Amino acid sequence: MALLIDGKKISAEIKEETKAKVAALKEQGREITLAVIQVGNDPASSVYVGNKKKACEYVGIRSLSYELEETISEEELLELIVKLNKDDTVDGILVQLPLPKHINEDKVIETIDSKKDVDGFHPMNVGALSIGRKGMISCTPYGVIQLLKRSGIEIEGKECVVVGRSNIVGKPMSLLLLRENGTVTVAHSRTKDLKEVTKRADILVVAIGKPKFITAEYVKEGAVVIDVGIHRNENNKLCGDVDFDDVVDKVSAITPVPGGVGPMTIAMLMNNCVEGVTL
Ligand code: NDP
Repeated sequence: MALLIDGKKISAEIKEETKAKVAALKEQGREITLAVIQVGNDPASSVYVGNKKKACEYVGIRSLSYELEETISEEELLELIVKLNKDDTVDGILVQLPLPKHINEDKVIETIDSKKDVDGFHPMNVGALSIGRKGMISCTPYGVIQLLKRSGIEIEGKECVVVGRSNIVGKPMSLLLLRENGTVTVAHSRTKDLKEVTKRADILVVAIGKPKFITAEYVKEGAVVIDVGIHRNENNKLCGDVDFDDVVDKVSAITPVPGGVGPMTIAMLMNNCVEGVTL
């Protein structure tokens, strides 16, 4: 029987730990504040932003909400970020992506003070991760590392294969696994013979963005499979990039969708708000 890696339980643990740290800081007179900026009112973004604010409330982080018109200029948005950078009472700044097309996302991310970049997307933080320095770490891959460690799965010396090389998931994931002394291979859409590569993995992390793409024939017997993907299938049910039912009998451990990687992202965001204070 495969171990079901329980993201709900582990994310709840992390939130409790964060709550305790926030309370301890508050006792010393230090309140943690996250500024959340949303441009426009895309329904999916509104749900994500709402969930982040709820999590802040739960762990005791003060959240400041900036709901900006879709038509706001890039200059105005950058001005707001500069103002929040200078505000010592603000510890973290989160700009919900995607942004409207007339705003350059890279410029926005680069304007956030890297110490307040709780998403871990700033080039300084990405660079810090790649050369083994302290910095903010992208929440989803950081959450995957927590899932592995807290489920007692050793990374050191293991063959780790990451499928996907996005800046948000795949690339930081591969750097984090390397930092944990895994032997890391990154596969992507130009990889020749993907099955041959994924079948080498002791730990397979999948972030492709294609529902149920990874079937049993991509997976080695006894592997640990982490499914980052989130999709709604034809019956409006959530599923991942991995065909869970097809691989579950072959693997030693697996994350379900929902209830695996998904809940970790917000938990790690809360963790980053506190970690940032000590950087
Ligand atoms: P992207 O679309 O940015 O990246 C997908 C990656 O998969 C690319 O690197 C692409 O390669 C690679 N890829 C696509 N098709 C194939 C293929 N046939 N074979 C091998 N590699 C392939 O996606 P994200 O990284 O942003 O997200 C991945 C998934 O994770 C999505 O389902 C997303 O919804 C989910 N997600 C979940 C989060 C969570 O909180 N649980 C957070 C973020 C994302 P190439 O670079 O060559 O194009």
